[in-house]
Amino acid sequence: MSEWNKRTKAVHAGTRRSQWGEVSEAIFLTQGFVYPTAEAAQARFQNTGDDEFIYARYGNPTTAMFEDRIAAIEGAEDAFACASGMAAVSGALMATLKAGDHVVSSRALFGSCLYVLEEVMTRYGVEVTFVDGADLDQWRAAVRDDTAVVFFESLSNPVLEAVDIQAVAEIGHAKGALVMVDNVFATPVYSRALELGADVVIYSATKHIDGQGRSLGGVILGKRDYIRGPIETYMKHTGGSMSPFTAWTLVKSLEHMDLRVRAQTDSAAQIAAGLENHPNLTRVIYPGLQSHPQHALCMDQMGCGGTMLAIDTGSQETSFKLLNALEIWLISNNLGDAKSIATPPASTTHQRLPDAQKAHLGITPGLIRLSVGLEDAGDLLADLTQALDVAQA
Ligand SMILES: *Cc1c(COP(=O)(O)O)cnc(C)c1O
Repeated sequence: MSEWNKRTKAVHAGTRRSQWGEVSEAIFLTQGFVYPTAEAAQARFQNTGDDEFIYARYGNPTTAMFEDRIAAIEGAEDAFACASGMAAVSGALMATLKAGDHVVSSRALFGSCLYVLEEVMTRYGVEVTFVDGADLDQWRAAVRDDTAVVFFESLSNPVLEAVDIQAVAEIGHAKGALVMVDNVFATPVYSRALELGADVVIYSATKHIDGQGRSLGGVILGKRDYIRGPIETYMKHTGGSMSPFTAWTLVKSLEHMDLRVRAQTDSAAQIAAGLENHPNLTRVIYPGLQSHPQHALCMDQMGCGGTMLAIDTGSQETSFKLLNALEIWLISNNLGDAKSIATPPASTTHQRLPDAQKAHLGITPGLIRLSVGLEDAGDLLADLTQALDVAQA
């Protein structure tokens, strides 16, 4: 199986068939498992072997299929499936860190990740230093001998700033830190995070992995000792495990994730090119465009520009008019969905940030984040163009 390409693994890896030989993966919608004898129950609690389950919070056959399939796609030794992306991020941090540890993190983070690092971890005696993720000198200056974790989003939300995974991993490893990457925007399809030196890769499966706006999920990937050691122990006892039903929706989603994400990327590239010189836009941010300041790094790390772009009309008023004139694009806040979604971060997802912080991160009042879906790229571009006309009128 390790010889298979990602697309083959996405369809077959991790499959566990019941005695009925079903083609489509079964949902084992069960919390518990029956032991044939008291002795077998005792033995199971002493040492759970492969494919021996105790309780769905610890593991379940459908959840195990999802974990094995996503681990195979990512090229990771193992994976633990979590109830949401945030259960994965907070769980990985809590399971790894202890009072007195130091963390260095990029500043441009998903709002809930920022909350966990800034307000939760510090309550338990963990010190956190934030840096501008693209500035390697800041990473070098921030790491210390007691730095236990470096944490960053490989491509940040919403302004699509890339962090050089290989360079930051080297800086972190020089101090013995564990390198944790929230890799949502890169997606498992384009991820090279482990190969570039990350130790732990985290996804919100709610995004491209589900890709259809149905399920909340998350996953932590890494070395087997780490995943089945501190991560599984922490997650199974604190309750952030994925439900078997969610695992089933995600197992089936993994089958076509590659096709979806590549189609979404092709459309994103077309839309970015179509809007790049639009007179009514002050900025078009897309890693696949030559004009992106880190175009070369993004092409090296992901091989393409991905499924997300951001545009700026210069003011909140114009952006709101544009959003209200859209006919296909939905005003919402998920991403990676089959349905194209437009999000104004300054007034929604990043509303709570102080204005100075928003300005520092480039989250201007007119910024609109675009998650490109599976509709026809020409239709999507035409919808944006007509809405830009309405907004400017
Ligand atoms: C959505 C997201 C999360 C959180 O995932 P949930 O599944 O919503 O809990 C974390 N990090 C990034 C970068 C995200 O986009």
